[in-house]
Amino acid sequence: MNRQQSPPSSEPAAELVCGNQFGTFFGVSQTTFDRVWKQITAPEGNSVAYVSMEIGADPDVFHPVRNYLLSHQVTTSKQAPLNQLLERYLNGPRKIPNYSGGLGVLAGDTLKSFADMHLPVVGVSLLYRGGYFSQVVDSKVGQIDHATSWTPEATPTLFRLHQPDHPEEPLEIEIPFFNGGQQPLLCKAQVWMKMEIAEGLDYFTPEFLLDYNLADAPQWVGEAAQQLYNAKSDYVKANQRRMLGSSVLPLLSALGISSQTIHLNEQHGVTATLHLILQELATTLGENYAELMTDRDILAAASRVSQKIVYTIHTPVKAGHDRFSREMYSSISHAAFQRILNLVAHDDEHHHEYNFTAMAMRLNRSINSVSRLHRDVTRKQFPAFTDKIKAITNGVHHLTWISDQRAELFDRIPSLKSWRENPGCFSSLAIDDYPELTSGLKEAWQQDNLRLIEYTNQMLDRHRAQMSETWIDPPNYLSRLSAPTRLEAEVFTIGFARRFSTYKRADLIFDDIPALARILVENNWPVNFLFAGKAHPEDEPGKSVLKLLLDCQEALFRHSNGLGKLIFIPDYDMSIAKLMVAGVHSWLNSPKRPLEASGTSGMKAAMNGVPNISVLDGWWVEGYHGGQTGWKFGYDGPVDEADLSEDPSTLLYNEDSASFYRQLPLILEAFYHRPESFLAKAVNNLKLNVPIFNTHRMTAEYIMAYDLHLDRATSAKIAQFRKLYQSDLG
Ligand SMILES: *Cc1c(COP(=O)(O)O)cnc(C)c1O
Repeated sequence: MNRQQSPPSSEPAAELVCGNQFGTFFGVSQTTFDRVWKQITAPEGNSVAYVSMEIGADPDVFHPVRNYLLSHQVTTSKQAPLNQLLERYLNGPRKIPNYSGGLGVLAGDTLKSFADMHLPVVGVSLLYRGGYFSQVVDSKVGQIDHATSWTPEATPTLFRLHQPDHPEEPLEIEIPFFNGGQQPLLCKAQVWMKMEIAEGLDYFTPEFLLDYNLADAPQWVGEAAQQLYNAKSDYVKANQRRMLGSSVLPLLSALGISSQTIHLNEQHGVTATLHLILQELATTLGENYAELMTDRDILAAASRVSQKIVYTIHTPVKAGHDRFSREMYSSISHAAFQRILNLVAHDDEHHHEYNFTAMAMRLNRSINSVSRLHRDVTRKQFPAFTDKIKAITNGVHHLTWISDQRAELFDRIPSLKSWRENPGCFSSLAIDDYPELTSGLKEAWQQDNLRLIEYTNQMLDRHRAQMSETWIDPPNYLSRLSAPTRLEAEVFTIGFARRFSTYKRADLIFDDIPALARILVENNWPVNFLFAGKAHPEDEPGKSVLKLLLDCQEALFRHSNGLGKLIFIPDYDMSIAKLMVAGVHSWLNSPKRPLEASGTSGMKAAMNGVPNISVLDGWWVEGYHGGQTGWKFGYDGPVDEADLSEDPSTLLYNEDSASFYRQLPLILEAFYHRPESFLAKAVNNLKLNVPIFNTHRMTAEYIMAYDLHLDRATSAKIAQFRKLYQSDLG
């Protein structure tokens, strides 16, 4: 996998030990470490703090240090502390469950690309001791959620910072909260650093994760710190948001990080701007600013603060936008915040609420949506900001999502020689390389499909065994059949996996099971439908969709005489995603247009050459290329008329499922009878979509909004990626 040269030392692992006053770390050389630390602490503040409620970057899908150690056969050391580190990196737990879905995985992919591109950025997020919930699925009950337990202490790539003068004491920073008054109530948080290390081990992006879950934490803090998106009440939710936003400045200052730009990955951390405004007011008006400040002073301070903020909005869906009652919020904020909030967070429709999306819209120097269609929708939702809202279409970290089998193939193709550093090279694939690429892709795809099918069959067997051992009814009809029925490789396999949320309509294609089954039976076409995903524990409608989906399994199997097999894989995470996107023959997305702002799982499939079958929504509007890369179905009319409602009566199940049933025979006919045409679509994905939907290109577009001063080599690299695609032109 890896192509670095061995360092000259007799103890190669020792070369990867690095550190500073905050700790001893592992994974890059001291020189590299110092270079990054110097950049992020430089007095001129030429770096960015990227603030996100969640970050998904599990080491089981991308772990360059482990790859390096394995490929250099560095597995033990004579020095005991090094040996412990090696043990942790090679065999330690490889999940960091601090994400719930697309937003977090995008954040992780983005930070990895910053590292690969040598861009000075630090991530800021929270560490959730209870992670996001884990999912068990019972066919009678549906989703059962339970707490996730994990040990940050044992997890490679993650380090707790210590105090500069007392290495045995964890660093604790104090974050000021103002529960209704003007005097700060200081809460403590420990700081973890996760290193997102570049594939060449020659750069890294530090992510600082705040752990508020300390023994002496007040109850309201402990409650909100435990689990990502704990939404037991608006009060807990608001506290979780401000635990992120209010920590940004104290964190940067405690570590000496000088970033002058804050990138808000969604509005969750927007309260950071309130603290910046207070700082501004204190600087201009002095200590008594709270008594002296006029509305005009506040607006002037807000306008200066805006110059530091870059904001990415991720969804048109209401649940993604935080609104809090003024009354509740007043009881937990600085007395001066109310006056600021009244000016910058007012909601024009709901006067008794503060609207944090509106606040983020008002306080920034740049706003971007996550696809072209989403830009148009966002402009309709926030017409006052039309001129400011630009598109920067999402991407995925290609090195994370391309399967090992595909990666080995790309390594062998001469015109793709630079693919690891430059995903843009797929656009200049040489004609001479087509035959080898096509036959190699076919082979790699078969292997990835076989792995997925074996994984699924083993899961079905395990569930079958559990049926007699536990009270859980296995989630799959096939496990419950008296005669074991297994999935077969090379049967057309459709994948669908993402959060369960009503607008994503996971059950859409099963709206008319007899119609679906007829397509399979009339042509004797077997099809595997592999589904996965979690519904937020408080999202009852989302959970119902999951249960409805399970209820379709038996009917589909019977109506199709066993040709159609619908399987649900519980506890979806990044490693299941990676297995699925490479192992299926097509990736399905069936949201109600235009509610899927971007979607990224389809891009992960495209990176592996897997065609998408999708509603023309989000990124697919840009990735469809007139049908060269996959198929579209469903409503694709203008967004002017489109309804942003998620009300069940507006979800277009009849129309859009009927449209799917019209497409499906064409897809199956191509797969089973014209395999070369199917493979041609796969190659088109590599050629047309890999160069666009990667996070290297996306970060190159973000850089324009960051306004960083970069060295010549980095600027040249950015310019090269900017040439690949300009999201905002379309
Ligand atoms: C990529 C990914 C997502 C996002 O999927 P969408 O189709 O964009 O909703 C969610 N969860 C996991 C684990 C992922 O890897």
